[in-house]
Formats: sequence, structure tokens, C-alpha cells
Amino acid sequence: MGTVTNETAGGGDFSARAFFLERFAELEPDLRFGAVPEETAAQWQKRTRGVLSSVIGLRRLSPVSLSPKTTERVDAGTHWRERVVLQTGPGRRMPIYVLIPKTGEPPYPTVIAVHGHAGGGKAATAGVEATPETAEAIRRGNLAFGRACCEEGFLVLCPDAQGFGERQEPEAAGDPMAGSCQILANMALPFGLTVLSLWVWDLKRLIDYAALRPTCDSTRLACAGFGAGGYQCLFLAALDTRGHASIVSGCLRGARAASGGQPTPCACAGAPALWEHMDLGDVAGLIAPRPLLVQTGRNDPRNGPAGLDNVTPQLALAGRVYQALDAAHRLEHAIHEGGHVWDNARALPFLHEALER
Ligand SMILES: [Zn+2]
Repeated sequence: MGTVTNETAGGGDFSARAFFLERFAELEPDLRFGAVPEETAAQWQKRTRGVLSSVIGLRRLSPVSLSPKTTERVDAGTHWRERVVLQTGPGRRMPIYVLIPKTGEPPYPTVIAVHGHAGGGKAATAGVEATPETAEAIRRGNLAFGRACCEEGFLVLCPDAQGFGERQEPEAAGDPMAGSCQILANMALPFGLTVLSLWVWDLKRLIDYAALRPTCDSTRLACAGFGAGGYQCLFLAALDTRGHASIVSGCLRGARAASGGQPTPCACAGAPALWEHMDLGDVAGLIAPRPLLVQTGRNDPRNGPAGLDNVTPQLALAGRVYQALDAAHRLEHAIHEGGHVWDNARALPFLHEALER
């Protein structure tokens, strides 16, 4: 007679999480820098960008004329705020806020400020407290970093990511804080697309817009994002080398935690076989040698149960590529003592150092 356990008795835990954790443990990511002997960092980046573009579906998207339409211009006290609508692809339009400093002279160094899940889209990054919910989300997560950047003299572009703010799908109607990641992913996947591909594509078009707009100095352009916005900046900078500096906040951590369901992964984060190819630190290696500030809250529950121990190995993966390109000094990890919040303390000086001549 063997021991009767929960499992042998037909009871126990039927969740798939143990399966995914075990599968993750067996992975040997094939696009890790160094997996191909003698390959240089530059060769690895070129090859890996190509595969990653295919994996997320970016290559299936095509441009149309941006046709920017400015629909409002308001005096927001410390700055001017415009609402502009861009056409990013066939049938897809993206409203953005453009925050224009009242100090300094154009063309201004430019920051793309990308929101995450909380705050209801671009209103949060632009510091537009249109509803009590947005005001509370901004306060809790320090989410109005786009406005903070503008008050430092940068021109700031605050997009609504597909599925958020004015770009919610109809199912989210009635809750301005809700996102539409799941429904978007359900629609995208059978086309070989991902939410990530739509997001990265739109940010690429936003860089195109900055290049066309005379008040933007697109030779001094950074992308900064928090949470899912940090995730967008990470993949944008990995795949598009036009940005000169990036801030990736509250999202760079090992994928193992999400594979075990901690934190619960969102439908916007994945792409077919992504973890078979790489982890997020490998993606960050594609940004080298350009300046990258990774920001982590020591007490951010989204780091997973291992906390910072699930974050620092990812910095080490990216660091190997920065090192190989003699740019170790351009990769910075700023750890603050808070939770899942944006922190201006190092972010604003970093942008000045990276974008000012
Ligand atoms: Zn999501």
C-alpha cells in the first residue's frame, strides 16, 4: 500500500500553474546573447530584433498617413496642452496629449510618456484630473510624470495606448479606469498579432510624428513609461533605435514569476513562444548602448514572491550586452523604497543628462 496523498486520492490542486512553472524551469532561451559562439553583440541585436518583430507580429502591420488633427489647445497653467489625433494604421486612430512648456525655446527635447493599466490612459500621464478616480490613481501611483517632465522643460507626448482612455473597447464602457487588454488580445491573436505589436507600432508612429512636428527636437527624444507603459517603452526601444534614452519603470522583472501566476499575467504582456526565446533582461539588452534607466520599487508586489531577486538577474542579462558594447555606464538601476509607483527622483535628472547638450 502506497501513501495516500491528495493527488492519488483524486483531490488536490488542479491549477495549471505548477505545469507552467515546471515548463519555465526547463527553458533554455535560444535568443540569449552568447548562445551563439563568436557572435558579436551587434550581430546578436540585429538577429534578435528580426525574430522579436516576427514573434510579436509587428511585421504584419503597415502604415498610413499620420494626418494629425489638433482638436483643442488649452492653457494648463504651467504649460500648454493640445489634443491631437493621429492615424497610426488602417482603421486605427490614436488621440494624444501634447504638453508644451511655457519656458525655453522650441524645438524642445521630447519625451514620450506612456501610461500603464492604472489611471485611465493619457489623462494620468498628462496630469489631467478629469475624474475623482483619475485624481486618486495619479496620487496613489505618482502617475502624472508626463506633466512633471513638461514642467522640467521637455515637450511631452502622452498617447492613449490601444484599449485605454479614449481607446477603450465598447465592453469597458462605463468604467474610465478599465482597460481592454483581454478583448484586444482575443481579437489580435488569430491574425498573428498581439496587443504588444499594436502598442509598439503606435509608439513608432509617434516617433514619426515627433520628427514631423517643428516644435519637437527628435534628435533628442526619450521614451518613459510605467507598469504596462514601461513594458511598451522596453519593447519600443528594443525594436526601434531612434529613441536616444529610455526609462522603464515598474515592469522589468523575470518572467518566471508571471509563469507561476504571481503577479497574474495580463493578456497584453505575451507573444507566442516569447519565453522560449528570451526573458525581459534579454529584451533590455537590445537597447544597448543607448542610455537606459530601469526603475524598481523595492516593495512592488509585481516583482513576484522573490522580490528584488527576481529583478537584478534581468539587469545582469542586459548588462552583459551593455558591457560588450563598452556602455556599462549607460545602464542604470534605480531602486526606490516604494511599491508599484513611479519615482521622479532619479527619472528627471536622468532625462536632463541624456537629452541636454
Ligand atoms: Zn494589460
